[in-house]
Amino acid sequence: MLDCAIIGGGPAGLTAGLYTTRGGLDDVIMFEKGMPGGQITSSSEIENYPGATARNLSGMDFMIPWLEQCQRFGLKHEMSEVTRVSRNEDGTFVIHKSDGTTNTAKSVIVATGSTPKRAGFIGEDKYFGRGVSTCATCDGFFYKGKEVAIVGGGDTAMEEALYLAKICTKVYIIHRRDTFRSAPNTIERVKTTPNIEILFNASPQEVLGDAMGVTGIRVVFNDGSTRQIDAPGLFVFVGRDVNNEVLIQEDGSFLCETNNAGEVIVDINMNTSIPGLYATGDLRISAPKQVVSAAGDGSIAALQAIAYVDKISHR
Ligand code: FAD
Ligand code: NAP
Repeated sequence: MLDCAIIGGGPAGLTAGLYTTRGGLDDVIMFEKGMPGGQITSSSEIENYPGATARNLSGMDFMIPWLEQCQRFGLKHEMSEVTRVSRNEDGTFVIHKSDGTTNTAKSVIVATGSTPKRAGFIGEDKYFGRGVSTCATCDGFFYKGKEVAIVGGGDTAMEEALYLAKICTKVYIIHRRDTFRSAPNTIERVKTTPNIEILFNASPQEVLGDAMGVTGIRVVFNDGSTRQIDAPGLFVFVGRDVNNEVLIQEDGSFLCETNNAGEVIVDINMNTSIPGLYATGDLRISAPKQVVSAAGDGSIAALQAIAYVDKISHR
């Protein structure tokens, strides 16, 4: 039986892995369905993690040393997709995986993060992967020397607009209100970048395309007027949904308490409503959705898990 199972290998899961193993738990596996590092690996640049002062530091380069550091202290990494976490009558947990196998664990730290939302306009799903994207670092290069459009007005939209403006001839930002929800210095950089044009009070009405992919976007303004933008790429940055699926039980209920948005309710120590089960990072209520805070959550949950495992082992 594992001392601790960590589900997800982003900043929260990796930090939990570092603290649990370095803090003395013997058998800890971090289950990650893809490459460790989490969603920040899709970011072109990180500049707000304390001490990470290198210029143009990509999210991928930033995260590579994290796993290496954990593994030095004995963290085991298994590339598996966890489908569900259930609880036995004795209070231990079962980790169900997509290949049909299971692990048991005394404690579980859930760090499954969040994924991009779709905005819901006509053609978004049809052309997803053929001109519609949610990752500028992954797909921006396809539009080198071309025009692209972005939907959204948060930090992701602003930062990725700046990144795309360096590759593309022109970037249109389509935002449904007349103010952005982003850091003021980032907004200032966006507004003063010559090849970024902002379309406030506007939404995509329809993605236009042909057999090859996207050819343009029809935009509708809040006053009812429309405009067509002939761009082969559309990036959608409209927020994120929490990845809480592993907590859904066979009867459809959640293993622990969640709020209406599906975010896991935790106390200040990342304790969920179930003893020995912790939720961290973007998945939890009131998450600042920052790498530094996800890492902080991971360390807090790990310290709690160490104390919990110690307590139940000496009962
Ligand atoms: P995630 O990073 O989402 O990691 C969760 C991990 O769990 C993923 O690797 C996923 O594959 C894995 N997983 C999910 N479900 C399962 C499952 N069922 N089984 C196994 N594995 C699973 N924050 C900043 O502080 N500064 C920035 O500059 C910044 N820029 C950003 C730019 C972009 C484009 C994006 C998208 C986000 C940015 N953020 C930034 C936010 C930051 O990346 C997140 O807040 C942070 O990564 C959350 O960490 P996490 O560990 O909670 O989750
Ligand atoms: P976000 O902050 O939730 O912003 C989403 C944006 O998309 C908002 O401007 C929203 O408009 C718009 N939107 C939502 N649904 C829409 C729809 N259906 N159609 C059109 N527009 C829609 O999401 P995010 O930018 O991805 O950021 C997520 C979190 O990660 C935030 O907490 C953010 O601070 C954090 N993050 C931080 C950094 C950083 O610190 N450098 C970088 C990236 C992300 P409204 O404004 O009208 O609601």
